Amino acid sequence: MTHTSEPDDRARAARPLPKPGIMEIHAYVPGKAKADSGVEAVKLSANENVLGSSEKAREVYVSAATQLHVYPDSRTTIVRDAIAEHYRLEPERLIFGCGSDEVFALLNQTFLEPGDNIVQGEYAFAAFAIGARACQAEVRSAREPGYRIDVDEILKCVDGRTRLVFLANPGNPTGTWIPFGEVRRLHERLPPSVVLVLDGAYSEFANDPAFDDGLDYARTSENVVVTHTFSKLHGLAALRVGWGYAPAAIAAAVDRIRLPFNVSIPAQLAAVEALKDTEFQARSIAHVDQWRAWLTQQLGGLGFEVVGPSAANFVLVGFPDRPGRTAADADAFLSARGLLTRRLLNYGMPDHLRITIGLEAHNRALVEALTDFIKG
Ligand SMILES: *Cc1c(COP(=O)(O)O)cnc(C)c1O
Repeated sequence: MTHTSEPDDRARAARPLPKPGIMEIHAYVPGKAKADSGVEAVKLSANENVLGSSEKAREVYVSAATQLHVYPDSRTTIVRDAIAEHYRLEPERLIFGCGSDEVFALLNQTFLEPGDNIVQGEYAFAAFAIGARACQAEVRSAREPGYRIDVDEILKCVDGRTRLVFLANPGNPTGTWIPFGEVRRLHERLPPSVVLVLDGAYSEFANDPAFDDGLDYARTSENVVVTHTFSKLHGLAALRVGWGYAPAAIAAAVDRIRLPFNVSIPAQLAAVEALKDTEFQARSIAHVDQWRAWLTQQLGGLGFEVVGPSAANFVLVGFPDRPGRTAADADAFLSARGLLTRRLLNYGMPDHLRITIGLEAHNRALVEALTDFIKG
């Protein structure tokens, strides 16, 4: 939907009116952090790292308290250099943001004018569309049969006004993924004028050999941007650090509009240490691997539909549309036991809950609770 209005209408309004389209945007709904009942709650609603974060990262975060009066380095140089070296990327092709959310917003602002469109999957991460609508662009959502991205459905939505295609791989809230051969096929069929954004927020949790985050592919491409975040694997969601690897021309364009000090000093210091802490990363991945398999098997054994297989640090679970047995009922039941999951009404998935892989005790408590739930 493209919104147009006569500028004069707004000039004659009795009070300031937001530009067309803004009030039709559904604000982002974060995962619950507190149980309604007030019981001590375990947050399995936001895909955070349940092991916390690297101890070294926490130490440098605390040490930054002496620098609170200082502006951060605008180029995020220490993180830029660390990532460039770690992944063997050109430093000038990196974009940093207040979370990868900001990188998506910056790409939208750089490429979209009113009447342009973005293409995404029907269950795409909400941040892509919010930023596009703020630019008065149209959001086209391609069908995802079986809760999985379908390249041909995406391509059907692309037209002459498409400027960006967003693809989270693995996806959120689905947890599903597509092999890199499919990503390449999508890229090869897109016009060279369209930016393909590959959001790798959960890529480290995907361990199938057919999976690839696209960083290597992006090296030689003029229109692929790969994004990553410190929020999930590295457990630094509170600090808001995300990055993108873009063609040099795109990075230079984005750099003109970003806020000058968008990554704070504590965040920069902690991100560098987190990237070095390969022991914490390996432990986090192994934990997700082990308990994702266990949860998938247990929940399947209880008769629930577990979408997937999930390649992320959460599972998407389907519930029947039967009174007393619905996703809403299960969510309330679990919440009363202090287990917070994510309802997905804003994703058009009223019958599913998204559940972060927890610590062993959480996972066992979850399966126990759902066993009691189906017994009624
Ligand atoms: C969590 C998440 C991100 C990361 O967001 P940040 O702003 O970096 O915290 C990006 N994409 C998807 C699909 C996510 O679920």
